[in-house]
Amino acid sequence: MFEALMQRREMLVSHILTHAATCHGDTEIVSRRVEGDIHRQTYAQTERRAARLARGLDAMRIERGDRVATLAWNGYRHVEAYYGVSGSGRVLHTVNPRLHPDQIAWIVNHAGDRIVLFDLTFAPIVTRIAAQCPSVAHWIALCDALPDALRDELAGVHCYEEWLAAQRDDYAWPEFDEDVAAAICYTSGTVGNPKGVVYSHRSSTLHALNLAMPDCACLSASDSVLPVVPMFHVNAWGAVYAAPMAGCKLVLPGPALDGASLFGLMDAEDVTLSISVPTIWLGLLTQMEREGRKPRALARVVVGGAAAPESMIRRFEQDWSVDFRHGWGMTESSPLATIASLKARHAQLDTDGRMRLKATQGRPVFGVQLRLQDDDGAALPWDGRSIGEIALKGHWVASGYFDSGKPNPTRDGWLPTGDLGTIDPDGYVHLVDRSKDVIKSGGEWVSSIDIENIAMAHPAVAMAACVAKPDEKWGERPLLVVVRKGPVEAAEILACYTDKMAKWAIPDEVRFVDQIPLGATGKMLKRKLREDLGLVGA
Ligand code: AMP
Repeated sequence: MFEALMQRREMLVSHILTHAATCHGDTEIVSRRVEGDIHRQTYAQTERRAARLARGLDAMRIERGDRVATLAWNGYRHVEAYYGVSGSGRVLHTVNPRLHPDQIAWIVNHAGDRIVLFDLTFAPIVTRIAAQCPSVAHWIALCDALPDALRDELAGVHCYEEWLAAQRDDYAWPEFDEDVAAAICYTSGTVGNPKGVVYSHRSSTLHALNLAMPDCACLSASDSVLPVVPMFHVNAWGAVYAAPMAGCKLVLPGPALDGASLFGLMDAEDVTLSISVPTIWLGLLTQMEREGRKPRALARVVVGGAAAPESMIRRFEQDWSVDFRHGWGMTESSPLATIASLKARHAQLDTDGRMRLKATQGRPVFGVQLRLQDDDGAALPWDGRSIGEIALKGHWVASGYFDSGKPNPTRDGWLPTGDLGTIDPDGYVHLVDRSKDVIKSGGEWVSSIDIENIAMAHPAVAMAACVAKPDEKWGERPLLVVVRKGPVEAAEILACYTDKMAKWAIPDEVRFVDQIPLGATGKMLKRKLREDLGLVGA
């Protein structure tokens, strides 16, 4: 081997903030606060406040490697925690506040959290679980002044701003091994207990660099980025690292996630890029149609977390000239694994062809390898037809779960995802289902995602879920469950499938419901839906 002569510098998340503070010091983080007002501070100010936070942790004798949890919306104080906690060698544990309080207590205990920082919105959860969380030494409310009622209900609770004000605002960010833990996030797991995925400084940094690439989120210092995806869900898909890295303005929506509030904030802050799950975009699209225009600077959206229907992609791209980037990943992959950007030769495709490719889950980004495998783990061809489970390997893919007591889930280094689909020769993934939600009729896979996408293209359909219904002859048949937003009958929806799918794969029946149960990260809970409809164990 011939030794290289390059400097070695560990990749640490503190470097991201110090870079932003030095080179983009006057670029702003704009936040809608829980109190409802708009708050502005620069990256330079953020670094000084993160330094105070790190000093506050030192003063509380929180050791390196100790976990510090957040129960918080997307906002500037949450950003300070991202950097103040991880940057000083502690581990940031972002807890999903939409989980049931008992599950939150379970997660806090499992992670052994020493401190919990919480938005006042979540004070009722905190007061309910505090007695069940013996590892937590301090509860810190993210507010200007503590409400009297909270002081009475939670003995010893701290006020974040008072705590910060008592610290100095300079800090020598420590250098340490880039492979140590920066953050931990529990999967939303609908079956069994949630599992902790532990991100390193290295994996978080590499993932953020990749997110910024042109075929991904395409970030530059001219962008104004609004992550709607919560900072408690897979670190807002890395946006809170990638934006300061690229020098983007960061716009954070707090708890106001309805279409009108998002539209107003995007408009006022000249947001060029926004990142979220499909359900959020339905609200924004409705608002855009109401206003007869898009937020004035909006150029791109990155969408993932659940399948984005082609009809939604067409509305963004064709009606509003917004570039739509459909991505796929999971908590275990930080999450970015694939993204549906086109190649030069795709410019020759007609609109339908381009939209079909954009509606796939996309092709692997550099740094993540995919493998299509059958039930025995044997590799299947990338021919666009063979259906198998997708497995992952890569710089920011989990190798195991925190203290799960279970065997390592990887096989030969490949992490099975539980997602079933095809991969075409260019690497474009087309997901058909989650393995646990699969529908098999007469021995053939039926793609619930394809069925849902076609239903979603009907203007009177607000939300659609396709689930398996037990059937004596076929084993299972697809059942379409629809939430209406206008008058429509089953026959009219079923007519949409003619010529779009094989006859045997078309649902026989549509059931109308008032709502489809959603999980803590906005994904449809199909098992719960099947239970509600009396289809489980029937
Ligand atoms: P989570 O770990 O909560 O982020 O959930 C990850 C799971 O969400 C994946 O394994 C997929 O089942 C699903 N998912 C994420 N992105 C997409 C997408 N673009 N299309 C379909 N399913 C998706």
